[in-house]
Amino acid sequence: MQEVGEFGFIDSILPKLGKRRDVLVGPGHDCAVVRSPGRAWLVTVDSLVEGVHFKRHWLSPRQLGRKSFLINASDIAAMGGQPRFCLVNFGVPPTYRSADLVRVQAGIVSAADELGAAVVGGNLSQATQLSITITLLGEAPSRLCTRAGAQPGDQIFLTGTIGAAALAVHQWLRGGTPSGAAVRRFREPEPRVRAGKALVESRLISSMIDVSDGLVQDLGHVCKASGVGAHVELERIPIAPVCRKLPNSATRLALSGGEDYELLCTVPAHNLTRLKHLQAALGCPIHRIGEITHGRGVKVVDATGKRLRFDHGGFDHFASRR
Ligand SMILES: [Mg+2]
Repeated sequence: MQEVGEFGFIDSILPKLGKRRDVLVGPGHDCAVVRSPGRAWLVTVDSLVEGVHFKRHWLSPRQLGRKSFLINASDIAAMGGQPRFCLVNFGVPPTYRSADLVRVQAGIVSAADELGAAVVGGNLSQATQLSITITLLGEAPSRLCTRAGAQPGDQIFLTGTIGAAALAVHQWLRGGTPSGAAVRRFREPEPRVRAGKALVESRLISSMIDVSDGLVQDLGHVCKASGVGAHVELERIPIAPVCRKLPNSATRLALSGGEDYELLCTVPAHNLTRLKHLQAALGCPIHRIGEITHGRGVKVVDATGKRLRFDHGGFDHFASRR
């Protein structure tokens, strides 16, 4: 990066961003100008930081760029939105190769493009660690659905499977070589944009969240925001096949590991039949894993009714490590 410099790098990436009718002024000015026909917006921001979220050899620069967009798209999906515009901030060590940063940028643009979003601006700053921060705007759906709204008796549903990405991280950190399925899952999250939109627009759900920091922790956020508790049946949780082959600790990892980017939603009992009819429109499987209860906190029980205990329910950046 020292060779090309900040402005040289920016000049090299700007011509690669496509033109769109809803982007009146794109990158290269003090602000971007975007057009929208009188609608509400969802706005979210998230970072990937070297040494905190990834190590360089875990994924290629292009994969890193893709992932940094996809995890933001997952937050938009969790509220039923459509990704539309994003701003990118790079923190870059001076020794980082500019050709690699071009690949990171190309990864962001490719993932954004696939989900219908445009990169409309950004910022570049020197940093001690490589980091990518993306602010993403999404079109809000016609009704709002948040983490608050779950009621006792509502059934808890989860899309896809969980555990594989956390397994890859766990194995890398212990010097192992994770299997292809686990690595793929870590590198390329699948934000459930289509499912999120269909679920919110259907009006069948009472709350939703994306599972980014671990099932137990994220369901805990729903419980706290809604003032309810949750009862989860371990046997019903769709744990990724790659984790199922491993001993019990892999199950624990699946429940608290994070990086799944699946959707968790709650459905009032009287909507269950209609939810079945909606399944084909979701574009992914959805499984019932438990029920919202009166009371507080998330309770996970095994087939014998025994409660599982967790030291911590998921990833917390500032929790002290033992
Ligand atoms: Mg989220």
